[in-house]
Amino acid sequence: MVYNKLVIFFNLFFLVSCSSISINKQIKQEILITDEEIKNQNEFLISSLAIASRKLHDIAWPIMAFNIDSCPNSRINAFGIMVSHIKNLPLSLHSSFHAANPTNLEGNNSFKFPMIISVADKSPANRAKIIEGDQIISINDHIVNYKNYKTLLDEAAIRGVLEIKVKRENKEFLFNLKSEVICGYPVQTMISPIPNAYADGSKIYITIATFDFVKDNQEIAFLIGHELAHNIYHYKGDPLYESNGNPIPIEEKPSLQKITDLLIFQTEAKETEADLYGVEFATKAGIPQNKVANYFRRLSIYMPQLMKDSFFRMHPGNARRVIDIEAKLKALQND
Ligand SMILES: [Zn+2]
Repeated sequence: MVYNKLVIFFNLFFLVSCSSISINKQIKQEILITDEEIKNQNEFLISSLAIASRKLHDIAWPIMAFNIDSCPNSRINAFGIMVSHIKNLPLSLHSSFHAANPTNLEGNNSFKFPMIISVADKSPANRAKIIEGDQIISINDHIVNYKNYKTLLDEAAIRGVLEIKVKRENKEFLFNLKSEVICGYPVQTMISPIPNAYADGSKIYITIATFDFVKDNQEIAFLIGHELAHNIYHYKGDPLYESNGNPIPIEEKPSLQKITDLLIFQTEAKETEADLYGVEFATKAGIPQNKVANYFRRLSIYMPQLMKDSFFRMHPGNARRVIDIEAKLKALQND
C-alpha cells in the first residue's frame, strides 16, 4: 500500500512539475516574443519621430530664413542641425536610439556622442556636407558630452562659427561652418493622436498625427507660418537657439498654460491674422499655398461643427478661413 501511494505521489509530482516546466517555458517564450515586438515598435517610434523632424526641419528652414524682416526681435544665428543624445531618451528606449539614424549603420551601444538627427536642406550644415546620423565628437575644439553639447552649440551660434568634428562609420571628419540668420523659433514634432499645431511663444509644435493627416507639404508650411505669426505678433516670446529643438520628443509637451493652437483660439481677429501671415510667410519662403484650403476642408470631415462661424466660439469657421486665405492668396499674386 505504502509502495502504491509512493508511486502515485511520484507520478503526480513528475506530472505536475513537468507541466509547470512546460507552462513556464511557454510563458517565457511568449514574453520573449512580446519583448521582440516591443523592441520593433520602439524602433518604429524613434524612427518615425526622427523622420517627422527631418521633414519639419526642411520645411521650416526657408520659412525662418526668408522672414527675418518680420522677426527683428527674435533673430538667431543657426547652422541647420537638430541634435539629440541617447541620454535624452528614457532608459527603456536607449537600445532603440540607433533607429534615429536614417542609414542605421551604427550598432546599438556606441552612442557616447550626440547624434545629428536632422540637417536642414540648403542650410550651412547641408552645404558643408554634414549628414544625418553623424555623431559630434567636438565643437570648436571642445570634446562634447551629454552635459555640454547644447551649451557648446549655443556658444558657436553666438560667435557665428562652428568648427565641428564628427564620427561617421568609424572615420572622423572636420567641418567649418558659418551661421545664417533665421527667426529663433525651433519647430519640432510632439506626440499626440490629433492633427494640430501649437505655439508657446518660443517654439512651434506640429503633432505627429498631422503627418498622416496632411496631403501636401505646403499644408505643413502653412501650419508653421500660422504658429510663427502667433509667436511674433501675439506672444512676443523669447527666441531660442536651434539646440532647443528636440528631434526625438518622447516626453516633451509644451506648457499648457501659455499655449495657443490651431483649433482652440484666442480671438477671431488673431486667428485670421495668423492664417493670413501663415500664407504670406510660406509664400515668401517659396512654398506655394494654393492647396492649403484643402487642409480646412479635410478638417471639416473630422469636425463638421467647425465649418460655420459660431456665436459660441471666438474663432472663424473653416469656411470663413478658406475664403479669407484664398482672398489673401489672390492679393499676394497681384503684388
Ligand atoms: Zn492659431
